Amino acid sequence: MNKKREPLIFELSEEGKKGYSLPEIDVEDKDYIPEDLIREDMGNLPEVSEVEIVRHYTALAHYNYSVDEGFYPLGSCTMKYNPKINEKTASLEGFLLSHPYSPYELVQGNLRLLKTLENILSELTGFPYFTLYPSAGAHGELTGMLMIRKKLELSGNPRKIVLIPDSAHGTNPASSHFAGYDVKEIPSGKDGYLEVSKVKEFLNEDVAALMMTNPNTLGVYEREIKEIAEVLHKNGSYLYMDGANFNALMGYVKPAELGVDVLHLNLHKTFSTPHGGGGPGAGPVGVREDFEEVLPIPVIKQDNGGKYIVDFNRPNSIGKIRSFFGNFGVLIKALTYLLEMGAEGLKQATELAVLNANYIRENLKDTYELPYKTGTLHEVVFSEESFKKFGVKTVDIAKRILDYGIHPPTVYFPLIVHGALMIEPTETESKRTLDTFIETMKKIHKEAETNPELLKEAPHYTPVRRLNEVLAAKKPKLKYKKEE
Ligand SMILES: *Cc1c(COP(=O)(O)O)cnc(C)c1O
Repeated sequence: MNKKREPLIFELSEEGKKGYSLPEIDVEDKDYIPEDLIREDMGNLPEVSEVEIVRHYTALAHYNYSVDEGFYPLGSCTMKYNPKINEKTASLEGFLLSHPYSPYELVQGNLRLLKTLENILSELTGFPYFTLYPSAGAHGELTGMLMIRKKLELSGNPRKIVLIPDSAHGTNPASSHFAGYDVKEIPSGKDGYLEVSKVKEFLNEDVAALMMTNPNTLGVYEREIKEIAEVLHKNGSYLYMDGANFNALMGYVKPAELGVDVLHLNLHKTFSTPHGGGGPGAGPVGVREDFEEVLPIPVIKQDNGGKYIVDFNRPNSIGKIRSFFGNFGVLIKALTYLLEMGAEGLKQATELAVLNANYIRENLKDTYELPYKTGTLHEVVFSEESFKKFGVKTVDIAKRILDYGIHPPTVYFPLIVHGALMIEPTETESKRTLDTFIETMKKIHKEAETNPELLKEAPHYTPVRRLNEVLAAKKPKLKYKKEE
């Protein structure tokens, strides 16, 4: 991966070059274009030929790294391969060309598709109702927390506090704040899961809900979840489950049966729709029976004749949380994946995701330090402990991985692990890919011991070297200035 740096398009610019060739115009511009729109001075726009512009953008495209190019073990992100058949179905003309303002009589098929997806998610999770509209996991969390707030309000008191374990994803406290709650952090137990005895210490009449990720961000199954649900319910509080890690459970566990009240899923993680670079995604939310009244509008139903109708008239609803019917294209892709896999296929995907993560865990645990020894499911988290003594940091390891042409794992998350390296291989990777990764990780660990300087200056072979990421985020250079 020794790519040269592609210049800016402005640096390629030469005066008078054009990307097209057309015959000389034989009429005055102003005969066709309103005078006030004609520009004499084109400003500082680059001037390049067609072949130059095509090569420029192709070169930039080659800088990208994606699941289609190679292994992408970002923990928590579930970067599984997205089957291309999903794109095909989402591009079917009937879907592609339907207008969001079409009369409902004319898009019965689209409504049926949404209802079918809701029903399959219900079957998988055990929740009778789903809303498909949230655009991402975090948006699902907000929707869920607003529903919990509304339920509590309807029974007289919205309460004040949401409890969140210290291993949680940062979106959990953010969503709770957005929904008007204060957050209290609960420490996980020494084995990496939340203990019911700890939860009891934090319970009082102000607690609206507890948000729990299961399996949590250590990849550890929350084994006391049923007992925790029980003590919460006794306290008049709800259990919210962050189901972004449902790829470790699908086909095996129905969260509704564990006592969960509200759950979101990440279709763009678990059900193979593309993500990264800001979406679009989808974070549907499932709820128990008695939350039906607070679901966001509109709710899709069938009348007695089987016709799909769209119900906006719901006085206790939390209201609209998204325009139209959400990211419809993403929903088509997720349904395609679900139908393609079938019940048995989904179970097998779960098994392989867990097997792959444990294969990496077993093969690296004698090289890298495992801070939590409890068995993990779909991802594994190592700490900086084994290489810190060489003066090497987690970021140095991650940057060095780039030199081997592999995307690094998630780093410095979850926060409860010092210098975390969080690896999630997903079910779509082959043994050969995993073996290459394992060998690379061992080699890098050896380098940390024998040549730490090499790692501290990594990456060596990428188009740009180590960037000042803080400066880049705080003072992005968005305007081209010609250097004198
Ligand atoms: C990814 C993730 C989220 C947030 O999902 P987005 O779609 O990125 O908003 C929340 N919780 C967990 C555990 C996650 O892994």
